[in-house]
Amino acid sequence: TELDRIRNFSIVAHIDHGKSTLADRLIQLTGTVAERDMKAQMLDAMDIERERGITIKANSVRIEYPAKDGHTYILNLIDTPGHVDFAYEVSRSMRAVEGSLLVVDASQGVEAQTLANVYQAIDANHEIVPVLNKIDLPAAEPERVKEQIEDVIGIDASDAIPISAKSGMGIPEVLEAIVNRLPAPKGDRNAPLKAMLVDSWYDPYLGVVVMIRVMDGVIRKGDRIKMMQTGAVYGVDKLAVLKPQMVDIAELGPGEIGIWTGSIKQVRDTRVGDTITTEKKGTDKPLPGFKPAQPVVFCGLFPVDANDFEDLRDAIEKLQLNDASFSSEMETSAALGFGFRCGFLGLLHLEVVRDRLEREYDLDLITTAPSVVYKIHMRDGTMQELHNPADMPDLTHVDHVEEPRIKATIMVPDEYLGDVLKLCQDRRGIQLNLTYAGARAMVEYDLPLNEVVFDFYDRLKSVTKGYASFDYAITGYREDNLVKMQILVNDEPVDALSMMVHRDRAEARGRQMCEKLKELIPRHMFKIPIQAAIGGRVIARETLSAMRKDVTAKCYGGDVTRKKKLLEKQKAGKKKMRQFGKVEIPQTAFIAALKMD
Ligand code: GDP
Ligand code: MG
Repeated sequence: TELDRIRNFSIVAHIDHGKSTLADRLIQLTGTVAERDMKAQMLDAMDIERERGITIKANSVRIEYPAKDGHTYILNLIDTPGHVDFAYEVSRSMRAVEGSLLVVDASQGVEAQTLANVYQAIDANHEIVPVLNKIDLPAAEPERVKEQIEDVIGIDASDAIPISAKSGMGIPEVLEAIVNRLPAPKGDRNAPLKAMLVDSWYDPYLGVVVMIRVMDGVIRKGDRIKMMQTGAVYGVDKLAVLKPQMVDIAELGPGEIGIWTGSIKQVRDTRVGDTITTEKKGTDKPLPGFKPAQPVVFCGLFPVDANDFEDLRDAIEKLQLNDASFSSEMETSAALGFGFRCGFLGLLHLEVVRDRLEREYDLDLITTAPSVVYKIHMRDGTMQELHNPADMPDLTHVDHVEEPRIKATIMVPDEYLGDVLKLCQDRRGIQLNLTYAGARAMVEYDLPLNEVVFDFYDRLKSVTKGYASFDYAITGYREDNLVKMQILVNDEPVDALSMMVHRDRAEARGRQMCEKLKELIPRHMFKIPIQAAIGGRVIARETLSAMRKDVTAKCYGGDVTRKKKLLEKQKAGKKKMRQFGKVEIPQTAFIAALKMD
């Protein structure tokens, strides 16, 4: 295909502003998918994506569009995730395309993730076409939102296209704008092959599938291909484009986006951002590399039933084939036995992975407190990274502790601003900036990441009735007065509940944890002390009083089946319990105890 007839683009938007719906319409209007195969949100493949309404893995589709100028164009749309945890995937796919549609819900206006995502498009030198969606809604204010785009983002919005992705209104105009307003890709067909590895995933039938964007040269089926970072060489067994189902193709030239497979065993052999060239007569100039995805939140995953450990190991390995951004290493816990310490890009990523393990692999898991990565500076001048609070070295050897800080951007209607400021203040935040865009305030805070990983989103949503939007970027590490707090149940430390806390907040947090656990742990035949401690010093304490009721006492006399049922129910419940010394703690208590409110 001639370069002039190709347009590569992505759609950037705040979550729920209609990106997936617009993608569906573009696919539908160009007949890329037959009407009868059309299901809502074509590009959101995974169940969890559909259920949660979020797009997790970037994906692409090739659309053929006969334009008004009489030529047929190939439009490659790369769908990008909208959530902060996946910002890294956004930034990588941005570099494979030349332009972006900026979708803004005309009834909501610019939100925090609109800003974060559009800045990444600007960073990648994109031409940007603003699109005002949902103008079918009575609350839509396209003129006001146009002004807001100009004021807040600083790009020209005079030619913004009003659309309704739901009804299909304005979609033909969007297609024409893609052709006329976005630039064609550049590239030299006769130069050695140079392609960017945009994404890779594991397919049970095909093995590792690699998505590439060709910059220069041509890739053909049967070629011998080299990954420049790793030096690994593979044959091209299959070359295809996604429409969005795979359609085989003989070659891909400059500006084109497609996938190939070649008996690659592991997704981790395929580094995103790597340059792909031919084994012989290849290029010697790789593309500028991407930064690798760094896990920022860690937690332990343990099987409820110790016998499921091997199954968990299998499941994690399989999942990693699909998601190279989540890391894991084996961990043993005195209380929980064998499990894994896993690293994630953020809390949502953690939840998605845990959900998938439980759902797709049918596992019951205990998740320990999420923790950020601390830098522990020792008295002897060395530094170690702490991924697990349980590994915190003895305080007598520690000089000081540093924690990661973020810059958070929150956009919120004026009436909820007070509550948002209080929330940020309570989480040890430092206000950096406060500005207004219409009736919405935009506030920037410097916050410790550790105060955000627990339940910050939930709290923010609840204090603003869902009207606030939030985005963050990690800014660096800073020293603070941080200590490890332990929880002791019946005088035994439960390492899964250990956490790093700020010294000034330790008592309050400890009291909260003990009170919560007192509610969550069922009574036993004996009295159970529940304590929070720093070093050897107890800072909070609750006592769970004893019980001596026979559970079957309620069942009068001879009703044997009822008694049996009750005992069976108890047994099933036991499977979800963990034994700590003489005390049984339900699995749900671990998660519930960590939520602050
Ligand atoms: P995404 O998170 O940006 O991918 O947003 P979705 O495409 O999933 O859309 C979010 C919600 O907005 C869904 O319930 C859509 O049906 C709805 N929606 C999308 N476009 C329109 C539109 O033009 N008008 C109206 N009224 N609703 C829309
Ligand atoms: Mg979506």
